[in-house]
Amino acid sequence: MIIASNFKTNHNRQSTKEFVNFINSQNYFSEVRVYPPFTALGHFELTPNIRIGAQNFYPAQNGSFTGEIGFDQLEEFEVESVLIGHSERRHIFGETQESICKKYDFAKGKESEIIYCVGEPKEIREQGIEAVMSYIWEQFDGIDIDYDELVVAYEPVWAIGTGLSASLEDIKEVLDRLRMRIKSPLLYGGSVKVETTKDILSIENCGGILVGTASWSVENFSKMIEISDNI
Ligand code: PEP
Repeated sequence: MIIASNFKTNHNRQSTKEFVNFINSQNYFSEVRVYPPFTALGHFELTPNIRIGAQNFYPAQNGSFTGEIGFDQLEEFEVESVLIGHSERRHIFGETQESICKKYDFAKGKESEIIYCVGEPKEIREQGIEAVMSYIWEQFDGIDIDYDELVVAYEPVWAIGTGLSASLEDIKEVLDRLRMRIKSPLLYGGSVKVETTKDILSIENCGGILVGTASWSVENFSKMIEISDNI
């Protein structure tokens, strides 16, 4: 199981250090991922099942891209995992499928783990599962789904940061359909809480969770990992 925490624009260097060191000291055996803000990346001594990742990057090793972070900067901190296609990048920052593919291909060329996020907005969900799946499959246009280091996160846009999680049935239906074409681990993300972690992780084809809000407290995130360890 992969239990991942997306800090978004939360935590600073000190609180990230405390968070990561605490998780590392617990001897969990689930696969744990933490995506802090760039400014809180650092040199952490971690057990192999824990990885620090980047929420974003510019698809270049280095160069003249004012304000951006390339792979030279990520490699300095041994970043081994990146998020691509997160709905906040797609919808708030207007990332197109074309720009997402450039990032994907770049990270793939670097053999980085990629958590690739897909998910439908509310108006598509209201049209039913066929509309949802055709929307989601379009988000795989140009994406190499056979990449060995790919992890897919199903994250309905309307469930992210809203407190409204998708139902267990809806999650299962989408993950089952993704599984027909995708062999990589499949995660669910969207207002996961400690109380809902066990049921979500128990869904067939669910290989873990990507968590924002509820994971920013190390106590909550630890409880989620413990639940995963016990499944
Ligand atoms: C996310 O940022 O990927 C996410 C799922 O956020 P939240 O848990 O806050 O919905």
